[in-house]
Amino acid sequence: TSETPVIASLRLTAGYGAAPVLKSVDIKVRPGEMVALLGANGAGKSTFLMALSGLLRPVSGSIILNDEYIHNLAPHQIVEQGLILVPEGRQVFPELTVRENIELGAYKQPKPVSREELETILNRFPRLRDRINSQAGLLSGGEQQMMAIARGLVAKPKALLLDEPSLGLAPAMVEELYTILGELRDDGVTILLVDQMATMALSVADYAYVLEQGQVVAEGSAKDLLKDERLIDAYLGGA
Ligand code: ATP
Repeated sequence: TSETPVIASLRLTAGYGAAPVLKSVDIKVRPGEMVALLGANGAGKSTFLMALSGLLRPVSGSIILNDEYIHNLAPHQIVEQGLILVPEGRQVFPELTVRENIELGAYKQPKPVSREELETILNRFPRLRDRINSQAGLLSGGEQQMMAIARGLVAKPKALLLDEPSLGLAPAMVEELYTILGELRDDGVTILLVDQMATMALSVADYAYVLEQGQVVAEGSAKDLLKDERLIDAYLGGA
């Protein structure tokens, strides 16, 4: 469609030293879409999310959020613009309660999280409702991941960036988490997701890109890519 994307990278080249990690990467995420960014270890997925978040300055190319160039902004400004990263490893505050951790996500908002807002979010994460006053450090890995996503949602994101949400979780928890991610997408949340669990991500996402050595080597509807066994074997380790 010709609909304006929420996120677009245009010929994005970025890295850490002389040789760029990302080479001319073009990616689009349209409103309400869940897009998966897939690829083997070292393909450049985390580097891409760092560039989007302003943690890594591109060498060339551009990043657009809702019609505005953001690649020269500082990380906190990008958060203010509504591009919210849920980092790998979740970065929870273990001593704080679940509620306090979630509420921290709204620190840039003019008003604290309202009761209704928290309710709406907890309806999506029933496990968190049961643990809302527990210390975050006592939650399971999956619950902590859910909490980190809830923290991202209270920031009222234009788009959520999820870095390896399934990392270290048991298969049943990964399924549960992805069911919720599908529900969030159905609620209209725009999501760009990086995950090693390619088939799981493709079973829920709308569209996907495959990165190999910092370049997009395949893209298409998640349905089509899921059927492409050759592609999954070649780039995604059969995952
Ligand atoms: P993984 O799932 O293993 O994190 P990835 O697809 O996210 O893989 P990146 O972490 O983006 O890949 O790494 C891409 C390349 O950039 C790798 O060759 C990696 O060694 C290199 N790299 C990553 N972080 C840094 C850094 N801080 N400094 C220098 N090189 C880095």
